[in-house]
Formats: sequence, C-alpha cells, structure tokens
Amino acid sequence: MNVLRALVYDGEVSLTVADTTALVKEGVKLHNLTSSAAQLFGRALSLAVFQGAGLKGATGEMSFSLRGDGLAGELCVSVDEPLNVRGYLQDGEANARFSQADLLGKVGSLTVIRQDGYSRPFVGVSPLVDGDIDRQFEAYYDASEQLPTYLATTTELDDKGEVAFAGVICLQPLPFATQKVLENMPTGEKLYPYLTLLRENGIKGAAEAFGTLQAVTEKEARYQCRCSKEYLGEVLVSLGEAQMREIIREDGAVRVHCHYCNKDYEFLEEDADLLFQGTGRMS
Ligand SMILES: [Zn+2]
Repeated sequence: MNVLRALVYDGEVSLTVADTTALVKEGVKLHNLTSSAAQLFGRALSLAVFQGAGLKGATGEMSFSLRGDGLAGELCVSVDEPLNVRGYLQDGEANARFSQADLLGKVGSLTVIRQDGYSRPFVGVSPLVDGDIDRQFEAYYDASEQLPTYLATTTELDDKGEVAFAGVICLQPLPFATQKVLENMPTGEKLYPYLTLLRENGIKGAAEAFGTLQAVTEKEARYQCRCSKEYLGEVLVSLGEAQMREIIREDGAVRVHCHYCNKDYEFLEEDADLLFQGTGRMS
C-alpha cells in the first residue's frame, strides 16, 4: 500500500500521506518528461492521489486542469476512487530547462471537477497565486471549498534525471479543530521535512511523526489510463460510418492519440467493417 489516511492530533486533523514514486515514474516515462517538467508533473500526480484518497463512493471521480500563461501550457490530471491516476502536460518536452515557476506562469486558473457518479459534478475554480503548485492547491481549497489545507509534495530526480522519489503529505484540520492544534501543526515550509521521513521511513513512519493515528485506512494508487481500442472504437462509431471511411480512404487510417498515456491507435478498413457490422447505423 502506498497511500495512508488517518486522523491525527486527537482526531482533530485529517492526514494523508502517499509515496507516489512508482506511479510518478510510470507517468513521467510515458510522457518522456525530464527535469523540471518531470518534477511539475510528478507533483501534480501526487496532488491528484491526495484528492482521490478523499473521494467518497466507488464511482467517485475527480480531475483538475491547471492552466497558466507559463511554458508548460495546460496540465490535466484525473483520478478515480480506486486511485487510478492519469494525466498530461500540454508542452512537457520543449520546456524542461526552465524553472517550475516558468512552466506554470503567473496568470491563469486551477479548475477542479469532482463527481460522485450520481449527482451533478461540482466545479471549483481559483485564480493562480504566487508560488509553486502546492500553493495553488492550498489557495484553491481555501477559496473554493473553504477547507483549510496544508500541502507538501516533492518529486526528486537522481543524477541521471530519473525519478528517485515522489510523495505528498497533507494536513486538513476539521471544523472543530482547536486553536492549540492549529497553532502547533506544521504548515508551509515546516511540512516539507516530513517528506524526508516519508522517503526514509515509509507512509506509516511518516504518518506516526504526527502523533497517534486514528481511523487509519490504506490504499494503493497507480498510474492507469482507461483508454482501449474498444473504448475508442465506440467513440468513433458516433463519428459516423461515412466520415470514418472517408478519413481511411484519404489518410490510410483513422489515427487517435491518447494524451493521458501517449499511445497511438490506428483504425483501418477492417476495423471500420467490425465497428459498423450489423449496427444498422446509417450515415
Ligand atoms: Zn490512454
């Protein structure tokens, strides 16, 4: 298990700790990201794991889009309740040399969409603030959900530029948290040293540094895209047979690219035959 949630400080604060190294490695590799783009993407995936860990209901889903005027363009990540995470960075390749602040930019917004699978999705938006990606999410929770949230994420690279460690720690005081607890819990820069404990001692070791744990739950998060040729085939059926066959005639195939896992799919004449066989769809 790589994600732990518990109550700490006598049950007054909700804690989430996740070692996201494996899934960040996978995501960074799929998108061929290096240096600061890999770090930004890794931290975004880790933040999604924190968000997913708080989802209720097996059909719950959450996604966010961070769109600033920086060099990375749009950053999108989705997570579901079983903690399958996937995402993409619009322009990850060209901008690896720049700082994370250059990648994010200064003006823009963070949009979060949360759905439980039953009712209408909740959409929250907050403008970008001065600071790194953790500060963007803290500002979002403060402004859009009125939920004080303290976050620390990291993605460390080794000498070869490969992901060596990634993780997230989050503290969310519950509404009845006392002033004493609010003043004593580590926030801002004081939260980051706990990531070192996470790297060295694992999720349980890091969590126990906050005191006695109550109501502990553990889960496993992974990088998992949900695309498949079958799924995309269904999408293409809605394009209509005539249009699909025309593209195949002109380009040799209908090519579909999945941004989330960087995979290319090709649909040829025989795929069109299969898709429209006996569907009775006239186009
Ligand atoms: Zn995919």
